[in-house]
Amino acid sequence: MKKLLSLFAAFVCMFVFLSPANVYAAESGNYDYKDYRTYYWLEKFVSENPSRTAGTDGEAAAADWIAENLLNIGFSAPNISRQSFDVYAYGYVKGAEENAKSQNVILDIKNQNSKGTVVIGAHYDNATNLIVGNDVSGGQGAFDNGSGVAAALTLAEKLKNVPLPFDIRFVFFGGEELGLSGSNYYVNSLTQQQKDDIVLMINFDSICAGEYLYVWGEDVYNPQENYFVEKSGGAIRKTPANKRAIMGVTLGGFRPYYTTMQASDSTPFLNAGVPVAFFFSGNLSSSSFGYVENDGKNSVMHSQNDTLEYLKANFGINFVLNMESVVNTVYEGLVDSDAFVSAVQNARDYIAKGFWLNSIYAYLILLVVVIGLCVAAYCYHKKLMKNAILGNADVKDTKIFSKPNDDDIFTFRE
Ligand SMILES: [Zn+2]
Repeated sequence: MKKLLSLFAAFVCMFVFLSPANVYAAESGNYDYKDYRTYYWLEKFVSENPSRTAGTDGEAAAADWIAENLLNIGFSAPNISRQSFDVYAYGYVKGAEENAKSQNVILDIKNQNSKGTVVIGAHYDNATNLIVGNDVSGGQGAFDNGSGVAAALTLAEKLKNVPLPFDIRFVFFGGEELGLSGSNYYVNSLTQQQKDDIVLMINFDSICAGEYLYVWGEDVYNPQENYFVEKSGGAIRKTPANKRAIMGVTLGGFRPYYTTMQASDSTPFLNAGVPVAFFFSGNLSSSSFGYVENDGKNSVMHSQNDTLEYLKANFGINFVLNMESVVNTVYEGLVDSDAFVSAVQNARDYIAKGFWLNSIYAYLILLVVVIGLCVAAYCYHKKLMKNAILGNADVKDTKIFSKPNDDDIFTFRE
């Protein structure tokens, strides 16, 4: 009987493991999503604000929702502010009117004896009503970027009563999907002194559905990336060097920094000389060219798949664990404040280094291409000369309309 039972058990196990759809279902059975604060916020945020594309009423309602929930967490009204700006949504977003507006929602956590500000950003708009061609994107933006908003709210809760030697400013950006409107506006509103005062800008954008978690700050490896990678205990990776170089050259032409990782709110900061740490998920180690979300799976971002239900059905608890990893890594990184400050101390120097190194890759490739073209042109010229009926007779000091010298007379080949 025992034998029969174990045979039956083995058969059941085999069935479960052989059927790929059940792998995550089985795994999620061991977890309660509700145990995780990031899941709580993600579920609440996207179910109450499924449609929040830049310039729409839904986006404005999502901004109100964030401000309201910051109050509920226990932050006081004077520490919560808004920044309104124009967004060019008309014609790009279904339902957006001319003169559409968007806004950033800002939370300040002030500390005594602050030596600067750490800015933590996440955009809250989504691509649901973004017009792509004649179609609209769909989805509810659970991955892009409900996950970043959920992580930022969770982190704000955790940092609320932790004294640090710097101020923390959370910025929930609007209009990211329309040309990084919110982050561009925010950076442009800063004085040079305010920019210099930023110790680091930490950006959360789409941190749950991709295969791996990454932190990226620059086209050269820099201390703040290494710092967070170490703090994460292996959960977060650096972006691979070959992909950095390739993406820098091909996507960016000859502009510095311009890579796949440029398509988010950290870019205006980086362009203003502010060091950044950009957390995102995806797969940069696949054999595919450039960035993919997952090897062999449908992608989620900017599609109808970007819903909480899809994430649960296809990633089980893993998408929640990704958000948790990012929150815990940044939290541990910030509270170990001496180590953090020393890691980012020279970060601005690395931005300058990144500029030159990235340019050097690009210019080296341009040089090789130009030399190759020169060699090809020379070879073609030689070939034409060989086939010409006239010999290779250079014409020197030819005086037209005068009596030619002997060596000006062309000679035909034998
Ligand atoms: Zn995004």
